[in-house]
Amino acid sequence: MGGEQELTDLVRSGQVRDPVFRSGSLPDEVYRVLMELDAPPGLSLKAQLYYRARPYIPLNLRWRLQQASRPKSLPPDWFVTTSLLDAYRDAGVDLETGAANSLWPEDKRFAVVLTHDVETAAGVAMIDEVSSIEESLGFRSSWNFVPQAYRVETPMLADLRRRGFEVGVHGLNHDGCLYSSRHEFARRAGEINTWLKEWGALGFRSPQVHRNLGWLQDLEIEYDSSCFDVDPLQPMPGGCGSPWPFEVGRFVEIPYTLPQDHVLYIVLKEKTNDIWKRKTEWLVKHSGMVCLITHPDYLADPSVLDLYRDFLEYLATLRGGWNILPQELARYWRQRSVPGGSS
Ligand SMILES: [Zn+2]
Repeated sequence: MGGEQELTDLVRSGQVRDPVFRSGSLPDEVYRVLMELDAPPGLSLKAQLYYRARPYIPLNLRWRLQQASRPKSLPPDWFVTTSLLDAYRDAGVDLETGAANSLWPEDKRFAVVLTHDVETAAGVAMIDEVSSIEESLGFRSSWNFVPQAYRVETPMLADLRRRGFEVGVHGLNHDGCLYSSRHEFARRAGEINTWLKEWGALGFRSPQVHRNLGWLQDLEIEYDSSCFDVDPLQPMPGGCGSPWPFEVGRFVEIPYTLPQDHVLYIVLKEKTNDIWKRKTEWLVKHSGMVCLITHPDYLADPSVLDLYRDFLEYLATLRGGWNILPQELARYWRQRSVPGGSS
């Protein structure tokens, strides 16, 4: 896909920073995992053709195609990765003696970042119900909207903000072709920047979590959330391995760390939220960030909404969780002190 030059320039100027220590000269082993250098994110030819034809494929058939293209078998712990922790170990860096658990404010042991990508008008129709459940349990979340896919009313955005929620931008038109070329990305980035300003949004997530951290520097954002620690079920699989945010050039990258609702309940047809809970336990143990993408479009299914509500109730019982909006987390991350030294 390209973009290596942009990344190399960022690294040379010390703008890719170590997630834990914030240093601009991070160990090579850590950098390679974080930037997905050994398997750079890209789309297969089949996936590229699929996105061109996608507007003409009915939703049910799309889901069947997605299921057909899923990996034939998955390891039992496919939703957990130790790739970044292993990279630190290989580089001789000790994370065990307190570095990782001093990342959060004093009384906090881990962060909780709830995000929603609103795919269609059906998702917009679910905002009140989903946000009310979150409010009732003391949570706030971020809502990412697609500027050119459905109507996004300004009073609705203002109402979400007034109640303590956040608004972000989710692509431009969600056609899967945002990254089709460097030129096309730059052209669309100009339009996306206009929407970011129009909505007063500070954050971005790419549709289908396509990503290129070099190209994304075109966006006038404080954070991006198109990366993930591990997710073998995305059209651009792989993962940066990080259970923490990290700084890349002009923005903070906030990877999601729990499998998406779409993957669990539509592709894998899971009937429980055990995987969310098991991954959360792992993240809490490693002082990580529980960052979840759900789609209100899929939460319209009462059984999925029940599983989401139950998961929030579970999160609310855990001690030491810091529910924070991604825009606040990005600012915190840039000014936090560095374990064992000054920033
Ligand atoms: Zn989406």
